[in-house]
Amino acid sequence: MHFGFSEEQLAIQTAARRFAADRLAPGYAERDKASVLDRDLMREMGTLGLIAPELEESDDSDKVSYVTTGLIIEAIAASDFNMAYVSLLASLNGQILAEHAAPDLKDEWLARVCSGEALLALALTEPRGGSDAGSLELGMVRDGAHYILNGEKTSISCADQADAAVVFARTGTREQGAAGVSAILVPLSLPGITSTHFDDIGERSVGRGSIFFDNVRVPQENLLGSEGSGFTQVMRGFDYSRALIGLQCLGLASACLEETWAYARERQAFGKPLTAFQGVSHRLAELDTQVSAARLLCYQTLWLKDQGLPHTAEAAMCKWWAPRLAFDTVHACLLVHGHAGYSRELPFEQRLRDVLGLQIGDGTAEIMKTVIARQRVGRKAVPM
Ligand SMILES: Cc1cc2nc3c(=O)[nH]c(=O)nc-3n(C[C@H](O)[C@H](O)[C@H](O)COP(=O)(O)OP(=O)(O)OC[C@H]3O[C@@H](n4cnc5c(N)ncnc54)[C@H](O)[C@@H]3O)c2cc1C
Repeated sequence: MHFGFSEEQLAIQTAARRFAADRLAPGYAERDKASVLDRDLMREMGTLGLIAPELEESDDSDKVSYVTTGLIIEAIAASDFNMAYVSLLASLNGQILAEHAAPDLKDEWLARVCSGEALLALALTEPRGGSDAGSLELGMVRDGAHYILNGEKTSISCADQADAAVVFARTGTREQGAAGVSAILVPLSLPGITSTHFDDIGERSVGRGSIFFDNVRVPQENLLGSEGSGFTQVMRGFDYSRALIGLQCLGLASACLEETWAYARERQAFGKPLTAFQGVSHRLAELDTQVSAARLLCYQTLWLKDQGLPHTAEAAMCKWWAPRLAFDTVHACLLVHGHAGYSRELPFEQRLRDVLGLQIGDGTAEIMKTVIARQRVGRKAVPM
């Protein structure tokens, strides 16, 4: 077994941490108020190679690993949870494009995404529900050299900021279920598209909203893979994003723990540092233990992906555990800071609001546990 990172990985991690601390941390709260991601910072991230570097064309020997991308997202999220979405959405959508888009489409959009010029959304959820994604209804009908889209996607991260979206729509019949779902890349500037912005409690600079499609004509070349293969593509993509989301949440949790250990050592009560009270230090020690263990699980999952080995169960474990653990960690750290932790002067309240969303986004804990159970005993033994 080998638990170390390579020299190159440590160098990228250091660069990401420095950029995040110097350039992202100062504006974390401001962007929450403005409710928008910063495009200039996105471009800086792109220039530094911090957006989906694993997607860049290179020889196999030079290829950036999935583990490395995890290190970047973890480092960025420690300073700005929301700007880490830029890398997350790029890796999730970019992988779908890299594997399934026509060459011209792939070259154009991957270059723009990795340089921080363009933001891609993933549009799967519909008003009737997100957990049962395979039964989605948004219509997609072939008309000559185009597909025509009609319907609504909802709860989409970056709905009103993204330049394009990977949209999942029904090309088959309802009876076909997931086998009738296709994926297509839709530039969001096309006629017939409108979007909204929800008034969320957290992740406000990322934002969620609905995207409405009213007879939107999309060139047939934008189809990703073949008709009917859309659902399988997104599920494979989720096996990747779930481990990255785990590290995004744990990056934030680790930052809280680091700050709180330091605070508790300095802060005095009853003539002693707070760490002298086991009610404080043992709670932090427990959370530190669990965060360390969850972090290993996330990196193991990405390592399995790097080796081309199955990792569906591990990815689902990352996704249900890390967001909840991170929320509990922020909560405990806020309380150790006493009344000061409850103020907007410190970042804990924003972190609490921000990290909560990922207990729902990308699939809830209940759905993740069903995925794990099905991996262990088969779908028939775990019917929905
Ligand atoms: C912050 C955030 C970001 C998001 N970003 C995106 C995005 O970019 N793109 C996108 O397409 N979607 C996005 N979503 C939507 C998200 O994927 C869905 O909200 C999620 O899949 C759950 O769907 P739902 O909200 O419709 O809940 P429902 O499916 O209605 O479920 C409601 C509740 O019932 C439970 N439940 C449902 N079925 C079962 C079952 N079989 N067994 C046990 N419990 C069950 C669920 O766990 C949940 O607690 C985002 C959501 C959030 C909060």
